[in-house]
Amino acid sequence: MDGAAAAGRRSSAVAGVLALQGDVREHRRALAAAGMRTMEVRTPSDLEKVNGLVIPGGESTAISRLASRYGLIDPLRARIEEGMGVFGTCAGMIFLAARVLDGAGPRPGVLDITVRRNAYGRQNQSFECDVDVAGWREPLRAVFIRSPKVESTGEGVEVLAEHAGGPVLVRQGRILAAAFHPELTGDGRLHELAVDMMGEDGKATGEV
Ligand code: GLN
Repeated sequence: MDGAAAAGRRSSAVAGVLALQGDVREHRRALAAAGMRTMEVRTPSDLEKVNGLVIPGGESTAISRLASRYGLIDPLRARIEEGMGVFGTCAGMIFLAARVLDGAGPRPGVLDITVRRNAYGRQNQSFECDVDVAGWREPLRAVFIRSPKVESTGEGVEVLAEHAGGPVLVRQGRILAAAFHPELTGDGRLHELAVDMMGEDGKATGEV
């Protein structure tokens, strides 16, 4: 697709941000910078309007509890299985993970990884470092805040970046997940990648 067509597609597509808990505003800003219209998603009817969804960092147990209360888990799983692009960061990665060690709530569980919550050690719960992303020239600054550790990945999961020998950025089809917080650094490249995975799902109504 040429640049003009891509820009056209982006201008009509809508990126949702799951807005139950967590750093919603920063993700909306990053998606807008990547050329998307954005909206907050709290209900199944909100979900029908979006072409893709970002699940922010925050507290995965709170996100799970609220998503379950709003009746979002099953519709969300169905949209993702139908091919909607989704990008989960930190708690959002936990929310997408098929297997969670150390407690998690109800969730779509569509991403074939095992994660351990808050697993980066007590003194080192929050830290920043540069990570190399597969195929990128420049490293990416990654901010880890009580992040989950990816303990294993299934066959269909591509590891796009690692830190200390473990995956921190993974992709499975149109599901992208980062253990860190790309919305906090002003580097828009991961949101650009997420946006590239959205907008081709004709199921969205786009009526915001
Ligand atoms: N520790 C949080 C959890 O388990 C995730 C932290 C984050 O999203 N920054 O849900």
